[in-house]
Amino acid sequence: MSESNAPRVSVAVPLYNEEATLPELLRRVRAVLDALPGGPHELVLVDDGSTDETRTMMEEAARGDGRVVSVALSRNFGHQPALTAALDHVGGDVVVLMDADLQDPPEEILRFLEAYHRGYDVVYAKRERRKEPLWLRFCYWAYYRLLARMARPALPLDAGDFSLLSRRVADEIRRAPERQRYLRGLRAWAGFRQLGLPVERAGRHAGESKYSFGRLVELGLDGIFSFSVVPIRAAAVVGAGAAGLAVLFALYAVWAKVVQHRSPQGFTALLVVGTFLAGVLLFFLGVIGEYVGRIYQEVKARPVYVVDRVVRGERGEES
Ligand code: UDP
Ligand code: MG
Repeated sequence: MSESNAPRVSVAVPLYNEEATLPELLRRVRAVLDALPGGPHELVLVDDGSTDETRTMMEEAARGDGRVVSVALSRNFGHQPALTAALDHVGGDVVVLMDADLQDPPEEILRFLEAYHRGYDVVYAKRERRKEPLWLRFCYWAYYRLLARMARPALPLDAGDFSLLSRRVADEIRRAPERQRYLRGLRAWAGFRQLGLPVERAGRHAGESKYSFGRLVELGLDGIFSFSVVPIRAAAVVGAGAAGLAVLFALYAVWAKVVQHRSPQGFTALLVVGTFLAGVLLFFLGVIGEYVGRIYQEVKARPVYVVDRVVRGERGEES
């Protein structure tokens, strides 16, 4: 690869209370950037409202190193909004989205770039051998398979955010106006040639996961409700089924009355059927509510994040 056709690489990383991993992250990403031809490459760090020393450390790194850009958000907006902010601040020909905790090994960027040079616009990591607890691994496994069946366009299995995007894919994703950003979904939606590479997902370098279980479930629901109408269609299917059964039962009741001169009996059966149907109705009311709530979020059209301060290395300039 000659210097002239080497793309400028931007590595984009969201951080939330990652003071314990930041020095090691800087070291490993810098080593990778040093090994790349061409340039200038950059590392865009987004502080998602950390309450520890993350932001101070980031800004210090940006002042001391022309390749590091520090973007501090005004509060904690969440992982996907922070990644969105990172995408809005990168300047390279290719963007690598990565977690700060080194579960995504920065060294894989070299393999991603190889695939990029073979003509792929998107290269994403397919997670292999996760290090999470068994029950969580099972949840991930089941979730990704459920999502794969429901989502349109089809989303690849076991693919997280760790990926390389060409400039044009990054631009298309940025053009999508939705507020509930499920980036791995938007990435698949963008199209072009995409390739999944198996990457072993490491354990967290330090600290605890910044995703509570509730947040994880929210992210999961975002994937389903942003990329599928199957839940809302299911209401129609279940409703049609229930109506069909009711008609059959009515026919039977008439037949029993006219031919056999007896009426079907059973208070308990009545109660069970009644409460069951009420449950189904409320459940689908909840599903519809989920879509309505999301429409409400989109209609309000609030910005996805708010930037407090950007510190760029070269000029040490702040805005
Ligand atoms: N993160 C963030 N904002 C949040 C939560 C997490 O920017 O509100 C970052 C976090 O610092 C990390 C990445 O998102 O770089 C993934 O988070 P984490 O490793 O805690 O999630 P997990 O890998 O356990 O799913
Ligand atoms: Mg992690």
